[in-house]
Amino acid sequence: MTGRIIKGIAGFYYVETEKGEYECKAKGIFRKEKMKPLVGDRVEIEVLDETKRTANVVRILPRKNSLIRPAVAGVDQALVFFALKSPDPESGLLDRFLISMERQHIPVLICFNKKDIADSREASHWRDIYVSCGYEVLLISAERQEGTEEVIRRLKGRTTVVAGPSGAGKSTLTNLMQSEVHMETGELSRKLGRGKNTTRHSQLIALGEDTYFCDTPGFTSLDLPEMEPEELQKYFPEFAQYEPNCRFQGCSHIREPDCGVREAVENGKIFQERYDNYCRFYEELREMKKRRY
Ligand code: ZN
Repeated sequence: MTGRIIKGIAGFYYVETEKGEYECKAKGIFRKEKMKPLVGDRVEIEVLDETKRTANVVRILPRKNSLIRPAVAGVDQALVFFALKSPDPESGLLDRFLISMERQHIPVLICFNKKDIADSREASHWRDIYVSCGYEVLLISAERQEGTEEVIRRLKGRTTVVAGPSGAGKSTLTNLMQSEVHMETGELSRKLGRGKNTTRHSQLIALGEDTYFCDTPGFTSLDLPEMEPEELQKYFPEFAQYEPNCRFQGCSHIREPDCGVREAVENGKIFQERYDNYCRFYEELREMKKRRY
C-alpha cells in the first residue's frame, strides 16, 4: 500500500493512505542507504497490525524535490505571505526567501495581505517590484475575504510551503482555507483538529484531496544558502536582460565600470530596493566565504 508521510516525530512516521493513517517505523534499509524518509514523501508501507494501525515504511517512492527548511519533500509551490502594513513588509526577508526557493526551483506565489488598511500607492509599489522580477503577486485582505478565493484556488490539488512573518495574517488565511474545504467535503474535521497543534516538527496539513500545506516555523531571519557570491545574480531574474550591456564578462554589478545592471537601476528599470538587497547579500556571501577558508 502507498501513502504519504504527513508527520514525523521521534522516529515515527505518520502515513496517510486511502485507508486512513498508520503509525510507521522506517526499516533499517534506509540507514544503510543513508536516505531518511521526509515529511511529504510518498512511501510504500507494509501493515504490521491493522487494529493498532501500525506499519513499516519499506520504500520511498522517487522524490521530485526536497527542502531543508522546512524539511519536507514533494513540494509543488511556495506561498509567501507578507502584510502591507503592521507589520510593514521586509524586503530583505522576502528576497532571502525568494533566493532560497529559486535555488530549489520551487515556483513562488507572493501574497500581500491587509490591502484594506494599506496605502494603495504603496501596495501597488510592492506589487510592481515583484511583478517586474517575474513573480505572481496577489494583493488581498484575508480579514475581509477579498482576493482570498484566488489564493484558495491556487492551493487546491497541490502541496504548498507557506511562509511569512508572524502578524502577516497567515493564520487568518489558513483558518479560512480550512473552513472552506471543510464545508466542501465535511469529512475532514478529524484531520483539521490535528492540524491545530502547533509544533516545531514539519508536518503537512491536509486541506482537501491532494491539497496539503506545510507551515514554515520561525520565519524571522533567514540565512542565505551557502554559495559563491558570483552565483547570487542568478536568483535576481530581472537582472538577466541587462547583463549583456555590462562591459565585463562575469560582471558582479557591484563596482565595475559600464555595468548594464547598475545603469538599469539608475534608469528606474530595476527597483532600487532589490538592487540594494543584492549588494547587501553579495557582501554577506563574501564574508561567509572568508570565514570558510
Ligand atoms: Zn554589471
